[in-house]
Amino acid sequence: MSAAVSPLMPTYGRLPIALTHGQGCRVWDNEGREYLDALAGIAVNTLGHAHPKLVPALQDQVAKLIHTSNYYQAPLQEQLAAKLVELSGLTNVFFCNSGLEANEGALKIARKFGHQRGFDTPETLVFEGAFHGRSLATLSATANPKIHEGFAPLVPGFVRAPLNDLPAVERLLDDHPQVSAIFLETIQGEGGINPARIEFLQGLRRVCDERNLLLMLDEVQCGIGRTGKWFAHQWADIQPDVMPLAKGLGSGVPVGAIVCGPRAAGVLTAGNHGTTFGGNPLAMRAGIETLSIMETDGLCAHAAAMGERLKTALAAGLAGVAGVREIRGHGLMLGIELDRPCGALLQRGLEARLLFSVTAERVVRLLPPLIVTAAEVDDIAARLIPLIQTFCAEAQS
Ligand SMILES: *Cc1c(COP(=O)(O)O)cnc(C)c1O
Repeated sequence: MSAAVSPLMPTYGRLPIALTHGQGCRVWDNEGREYLDALAGIAVNTLGHAHPKLVPALQDQVAKLIHTSNYYQAPLQEQLAAKLVELSGLTNVFFCNSGLEANEGALKIARKFGHQRGFDTPETLVFEGAFHGRSLATLSATANPKIHEGFAPLVPGFVRAPLNDLPAVERLLDDHPQVSAIFLETIQGEGGINPARIEFLQGLRRVCDERNLLLMLDEVQCGIGRTGKWFAHQWADIQPDVMPLAKGLGSGVPVGAIVCGPRAAGVLTAGNHGTTFGGNPLAMRAGIETLSIMETDGLCAHAAAMGERLKTALAAGLAGVAGVREIRGHGLMLGIELDRPCGALLQRGLEARLLFSVTAERVVRLLPPLIVTAAEVDDIAARLIPLIQTFCAEAQS
């Protein structure tokens, strides 16, 4: 169908393939072509496609109960919340449907926490390179001017700091005494796979404790085992006060969550926040089964090992390629930064039957399902390396 007659709004630049089904890390399009999936629907399909344990669990749930509303007791929410509390060491959970919703809720917590501290115009400290979503508040927290364009006036109350610069954060906090929360992605995803350094995270934790602020870590993309630990901040051996989650939590079924520790868990009270769909039985079952399969199959350790393998293969294959600036990230959240825009690689990826994305214009982003096998990792590297080599050589000449 040509774009001109599509009944969809023209919000996406879509690649010219239509996927119809998948199995593990493979997907097929409507012309029967097979692709290797190194994107997992942007870190969503934790268990790949058509997982043999997830599919029957979801079928069972669909046949029992899909939705009821939050008017009633929610035992499946309790069950998934208990698991998230156990894995994170935090205390309470609110369920919603997406990443921006989880972040929007976190920003409401930050505002109300500020008012409880007596601030009349509480502010939230956010970072350069950040992406937090597309609602008015979360796009205002996002750094990318392209995402702001056309949507002024932005939501006020954000102060922006450079990432990984603790003295700059402390100076801004001194200048902005009504900041009530520090909000960042533990590893920036859309911004180009930029990790917050371990010492920076530990420094932010200390600063938040000294000044009674909320440390809010957006783990929508980097959470749920992707970096090789349940949550990316666990590499820094710290705990946030608020942790929004979404993407990988339901393995493809939309689930968002705001996981809170003691400083934040009691801030929102009856009547402060709510959602119709959030926490419905189908979504909860998807989350419960995803975490349970991940645990039984040791997928965090597996993601760490497969991520190491992929990074090593890419580093070897791309060593000395002029135009490759850096390979970075943790576990199965990897970025290859080139010295120039590389969106053109996506089409060539399709020709090589490999799905990945390009973010921040010049970063090739890999987010394969956590079930990816060693052979598939080698295959991803074998398909991607020549694409990048050729692209860089052409652009060079
Ligand atoms: C994807 C993403 C979001 C937004 O999630 P949606 O489900 O698309 O609303 C927010 N924060 C981060 C870090 C993300 O990667």
